[in-house]
This record gives sequence, C-alpha cells and structure tokens, in this order.
Amino acid sequence: MDGSAEGATEEQPPIQVMVIVVSAFQQNCSLIWDPATMRGTVVDPGGDIDRIQAAIQKQGVTVEKIVLTHGHIDHVGGAADLAEALKVPVEGPHEDDRPLIDRVAEQAAQFGVDNVKPVTPDRWMVEGDTVEIAGRNFEVLHCPGHSPGHLVFFDRELRFAISGDVLFAGSIGRTDLPGGDHATLIRSIQEKLLPLGDDVAFLPGHGQASTIGHERENNPFLA
Ligand SMILES: [Zn+2]
Ligand SMILES: [Zn+2]
Repeated sequence: MDGSAEGATEEQPPIQVMVIVVSAFQQNCSLIWDPATMRGTVVDPGGDIDRIQAAIQKQGVTVEKIVLTHGHIDHVGGAADLAEALKVPVEGPHEDDRPLIDRVAEQAAQFGVDNVKPVTPDRWMVEGDTVEIAGRNFEVLHCPGHSPGHLVFFDRELRFAISGDVLFAGSIGRTDLPGGDHATLIRSIQEKLLPLGDDVAFLPGHGQASTIGHERENNPFLA
C-alpha cells in the first residue's frame, strides 16, 4: 500500500468489453473483463486467434474461460486452439448444437476454411443456468431458430446481453443453415429477448450493438 489516492475516486465500470472482429465472416468475438481484477472471458473465438491473443495481452487480461453462443464455424472455429493455448475451459453452447460442433471441420471445409480443430465443450448449458463471465453471473437463455442450441447471455443488473446470431441491429439470424427454423427464431426473439426490456443493450455476433427497444420499434423482421 503506497497510500496513493490516484484513481480512487474514479468510477470504474463493472465490466469492459472489447470486440475483436474475426474470421472471413466478420464475427464479433468479445473479450469481456472486470477492470478491478483484470480477469475475463472470451466469447465466441471464431478464428484469428493470434489477434485475439494479441488483444488479451495488450489489455493485460487473465482469461479464465471461453464461452460459446452456438456451434457455427464463425463462432467456434478458434475455440479449440485458444482453449489449448490459454489452458482454459470452454462452456456452452446448449447440447442441441452438438451435431454442429461435432462437424465443425465439415462446416469449415464447406466455407473453405482450413485447419479448424474440433472443440469439446467442458460444459453444455440449458435455459435457466447461469454462466460466470468476467466475474459476473449472466443468465442463460436458450434461443433456438438460427441454430438448435443457440444461447444468449444476459446480465440483468447491467442491462446487457450477448445475443450471438439471434438478433442483430436491423436484422435477425439466418435460418437456412442445418437446424435453422424461421418460426422458431421469431418465437425465441418474441418470447425470450423482447421481454428483457427496451433499455437492454445487446452485442450481436455480427455488426453494430443495439438495444432491445430500438429493434422492437425499427427491426423490419419483428414488424
Ligand atoms: Zn451462426
Ligand atoms: Zn455468426
């Protein structure tokens, strides 16, 4: 203790979120950490793990786990390599995405991506679970439709959700991939996401962040 008061009165945000856009699919991998402890989580390391690791080092974060929203290649493509490099567990998605996860090399080949290792999650999650991200408890919402085992993570106190490919700013997830279903996706959004509240900000898997209220009023797919 040096008794320095420097910074003591500065309001520190409870979490910090850094988006690293990865893979040919421009996917929002996020590094989320608690600035008080500098411990954090990587959500959806879809590829380009050199850049993810560079971001982790630059910020000085100790990553404790990897969390996955769903089993598509652009979200899980770098998970096995990053988990091995950081020696951390992988949590999520819902086990209904196991067929996608198991066939990640085939997904990769289909999209012309090389050298993707299959990942074996240490924990599958279900609706009603909580997952610790950057030292906070996020609620786990099972939101199928884009993929069968898609999860959304929600911090009720911070009014912040990580929505993966369920809901985007101005759009919704595609439903033409294996296991996708449009009516199921709309139901997930209507029954699970919109009720979270208009003030809730969300970070999607692609593109800009938005709020539930903005999408409820303006998203053409929810009209
Ligand atoms: Zn997807
Ligand atoms: Zn995606």
